[in-house]
Amino acid sequence: MTQYDVIIIGTGAGGGTLAYHLAPSGKRILLLERGDYVRREKDNWSSRAVNVEAKYHTKEVWHDKDGKPLHPHTNYYVGGNTKFYGAALFRLRKEDFGEIRHHGGVSPAWPISYGELEPYYTKAEYLYQVHGERGVDPTDPWASAPYRFPAVQHEPRIQQLHDDLSANGLRPFHVPLGIMLDESDPQKSRCIRCETCDGFPCLIHAKSDAQVICVDPALAHPNVTLVTNARVTRLLTSPSGREITGVAVQRNGAEEIFSSDIVVSSCGAINSAALLLRSANDRHPQGLANRSGVVGRHYMGHVNSVLLAISKSLNATVFQKTLGVNDFYFGDEEFKYPMGHISFVGKLDAVALSAGAPAIVPGMTLDIMAKHSLDFWLTSEDLPDPDNRVTLDRDGTIVLAYKPNNDEGHKRLIAKLEHLLQHLDMRPHLIPRNLFVGNRIPLAGVAHQNGTVRFGRDPNTSALDANCKTHDVENLYVVDGSFFPSSGAVNPALTIMANAIRVGDHILERLGASARVAEGAAV
Ligand SMILES: Cc1cc2nc3c(=O)[nH]c(=O)nc-3n(C[C@H](O)[C@H](O)[C@H](O)COP(=O)(O)OP(=O)(O)OC[C@H]3O[C@@H](n4cnc5c(N)ncnc54)[C@H](O)[C@@H]3O)c2cc1C
Ligand code: SF4
Repeated sequence: MTQYDVIIIGTGAGGGTLAYHLAPSGKRILLLERGDYVRREKDNWSSRAVNVEAKYHTKEVWHDKDGKPLHPHTNYYVGGNTKFYGAALFRLRKEDFGEIRHHGGVSPAWPISYGELEPYYTKAEYLYQVHGERGVDPTDPWASAPYRFPAVQHEPRIQQLHDDLSANGLRPFHVPLGIMLDESDPQKSRCIRCETCDGFPCLIHAKSDAQVICVDPALAHPNVTLVTNARVTRLLTSPSGREITGVAVQRNGAEEIFSSDIVVSSCGAINSAALLLRSANDRHPQGLANRSGVVGRHYMGHVNSVLLAISKSLNATVFQKTLGVNDFYFGDEEFKYPMGHISFVGKLDAVALSAGAPAIVPGMTLDIMAKHSLDFWLTSEDLPDPDNRVTLDRDGTIVLAYKPNNDEGHKRLIAKLEHLLQHLDMRPHLIPRNLFVGNRIPLAGVAHQNGTVRFGRDPNTSALDANCKTHDVENLYVVDGSFFPSSGAVNPALTIMANAIRVGDHILERLGASARVAEGAAV
C-alpha cells in the first residue's frame, strides 16, 4: 500500500486549491473525491436540466430536524461546488474579522486578522483570475495588489441601473468575477459571456473553478494522484487517538483504506462535520476531534433572498452578475446594524422561474416576467447559533437543523432596495410601481454552508487551531468552508481559497518542503 504524505478529501474550493499549492513540492499527494468529473454535454447549459430537473445535484437525501427529507442543492464532482458557482469572488471585509454587533446578536471575531489573510487573498485572486476594480466598493478592504484583470463591464440595462443608483448617492461597483473573459479581444476570449453561468457548469471550461484552475494543473505533477468516485466514510485513529492512521473509502462497492502522514478533510462544511461525527471511536466518543463539542454546530449559510424587480423596461442582459451594492453592509443612519450585500443572480429565464415558482404577477406570463425583471441577490449575515447544527441519525444520514436568525437586517435590506428602485428613473413602468417578487432561499439551499468546524485559539470553544489543524488530532486538518467562526455577508469561496493557500504554506513548512519551490510553480 502506498504511504502518502498528504491525503486531501474533496476537490472543491478548499481541497482543490490546497492540492494545487502543495503539488510542486514533490510530496506524494492523494486526492479522494466522492464524485466524478462533470460530464461535458449540452445539458451543462440547459436551464431545464439545471434548474428544473436538478440534474447535477446530489441525489443523496438528508433530513431536517423534524425528520423530513431534505434534497440538498449541492454537487459532488471534481471541483466541488465551484463547478456551479457564480464565481463572484469577494474578500471578507476587514471588519468581518473582528467582533461586530448585529441587530440579532454578536458576530464573533476570528483568531486571525484581515492583515494575516490579505497576502493569501491576493494570491487566490491571481490564481482564480479575478476580474475587478479596487477602491470603488465603499467597504472594500485594503489590498496589496491590483486585480490581475479589469472588471467585467456592465451591459446597458445594468449600466443604466448603475448610473441611476449613483445619481441617488450610492456607490455601486463591479462585482469581482472569476471568469476568463477578455473583453478587449472577444474572438480570442475563452469565455463567451453567456447567460448560463451562475448555477451551471461551464461547458467550455472558461469559468475559474477548482477543477480547471487547480485540480487539472495539479495532476500534471507526477506526485499527485486523484481517485474519483471514492467516498470517504471514516477516519481511523491510532489507539491513543492522537493520529489518523487510515482513511476508509467506499469505492466500487468495496472498502479500501488509504494512509498518509497528514490528512485534510475538505468535504465542504456539512460533509466535513458529518465525516468527523461518523468517525467517532473510543477515544473520540462525541466524534473525531470533538472534545469541545462544537463539531457540527454553528452551521451558517447566510440569509439569502432572490428579489425580482419587474418594470416595463426590457432587461435584455445576458450576463447580469456584474453589479454590487455594499452601501448598507454595515448599516446606515436609519438602521445602525449591518444589513448586508446586494448583487445579482444570473439572468433568470421563464424555465428557471417555473422551477422557483415565484408568485406570478397577474396578467403576466413567466416569459414576460423574466424579460422585464432585474434579478437581485441579497445576502445578510446569519449568526453562529450552537443549535443550528449538523448531526447524524441512527443510520448515519445527515440531519440539518437550522432556525433562521438575525433577519431584521435582511428585511431592512430588502426594504431599502425596494424603496430605492421605486424612486429610480426606471420609467416607463409597466405598472404604476415596480413590482417585487421575493423568495427566501430555503434550507435545502446550502450553497454558502460554513461554520461547522470552527477555528479558534481556545480548544474548549473551537475544533481547529489557527492553522486549521484539529486541536485533538495531530495530523488532521480541515480546509473548506467549515472553519468560519462568523460568515460576513459576501460570498464565501474566495476566503476558502485564500485560507487553503495559507494552510498550505503551514503544511509545506511542517513537511519540510521548500515553500519557494511550491510558490515558484504555483501561486
Ligand atoms: C449554485 C451555486 C452558486 C454559488 N455562487 C458562488 C459565488 O458566486 N461566489 C462564491 O464565493 N461562492 C459561491 N457559491 C459557494 C461556493 O461554491 C462554495 O462556498 C465553495 O465551493 C465551498 O468550498 P468547499 O471547499 O467548502 O466545498 P466544495 O466546493 O463543495 O467541495 C467539497 C468537495 O468534497 C467532496 N466530498 C464531500 N464529501 C466527501 C466524502 N465523504 N468523500 C470524498 N469527497 C467528498 C465533494 O464532492 C466536493 O467535491 C455557490 C454555490 C452554488 C452551489
Ligand atoms: S462561457 Fe463564460 S459566462 Fe458562459 S459559463 Fe463559461 S465562464 Fe460563464
